[in-house]
Amino acid sequence: MKAFEKNIRKVEPYVPGEQPQNKVIKLNTNENPYPPAPGVAKVLRELDTDRFRLYPDPTCAPLTEALADFYHVNPDQVFVGVGSDDVLSMCFLTFFNSEKPVLFPDITYSFYKVWAELYRIPYECQKLDEGFRVVKEDYFKENGGVIFPNPNAPTAIYEELHVVEDIIRANQDVIVIVDEAYVDFAGRSALELIDKYDNLIVVQTFSKARSMAGMRIGYAISNPTLIKYLNDAKYSFNSYTMNQAALACGVEAVKDKAYFEEGIRKIIQTREWAKEELSQLGFCCLDSSANFIFAMHPEYDAKEMFEALKKNGIYVRYWGSERIEQYMRITIGTREEMVALFAFLREYMKR
Ligand SMILES: *Cc1c(COP(=O)(O)O)cnc(C)c1O
Repeated sequence: MKAFEKNIRKVEPYVPGEQPQNKVIKLNTNENPYPPAPGVAKVLRELDTDRFRLYPDPTCAPLTEALADFYHVNPDQVFVGVGSDDVLSMCFLTFFNSEKPVLFPDITYSFYKVWAELYRIPYECQKLDEGFRVVKEDYFKENGGVIFPNPNAPTAIYEELHVVEDIIRANQDVIVIVDEAYVDFAGRSALELIDKYDNLIVVQTFSKARSMAGMRIGYAISNPTLIKYLNDAKYSFNSYTMNQAALACGVEAVKDKAYFEEGIRKIIQTREWAKEELSQLGFCCLDSSANFIFAMHPEYDAKEMFEALKKNGIYVRYWGSERIEQYMRITIGTREEMVALFAFLREYMKR
């Protein structure tokens, strides 16, 4: 081993789902099967490329204003970043700066652990119960901060707002981050509590309900004080996180509320039908409130099924980690894509 090795920051990186470049039925990374709002294509076509020689607006003002408008908050309550992964990582760096452990569920978005390790933040995972539910009392002890997704990933389970509020209320000496990547498919958002609790940050994304994973846009909404701390950290890191195209497309997507709501409605409808189809095939599904379903079959091995699906051009997500080794996560695609999935599974089970 070279002497310099000991000074290198080594991390075990997050492993994203595969992005095959050939045409497959892609139900593995919770992308939206529908295109973004139609205005987005137009804005992109009309983008003034002469301006590309200039740096983008470091404050991301048009986008923070559009989001502020949409969520009825002030622009100084909004922080945007390169996907919510960027926003969340900035939150870890900024707000989780204690000797005490940050708390998050044992089965959750696997990036949390990666950021905690990258930034040397102590953390302690709290076990979900037998039904994969958050046990709120586990978050009532001393800690250096709390983060959890609602709905949780990969379980897709949504905890009612009073549960979320109990956790925020019990932790007013630390920052609580609610990662709402999937809340548009679920129920009430913790945004309702922003004015009531000054320790709360809500993080959302354009990658799921707004069909723009490829543009990389995420945002945090909180009070102006915490948003200022986030901006200070960002400006100490990289002033120009959001490129001009992402800013323009983001604004346009937020404007089209009707398209956004219709897209959510279609996915929820497909999800509810897909749950029934899966149960008829003998799967046990956790009660999904997201744009994906976490399912297991008591008679078929999940890993074998995952591999057979993949060989036939249908990609779903499988981890094989403790407690979830018999589960697959299936993103809700178009109805046609789901029909193809169920047709394959039906044949698979005849063999
Ligand atoms: C998808 C997802 C994100 C982040 O997605 P971005 O594309 O970076 O906005 C964050 N948290 C959870 C729980 C997710 O599933």
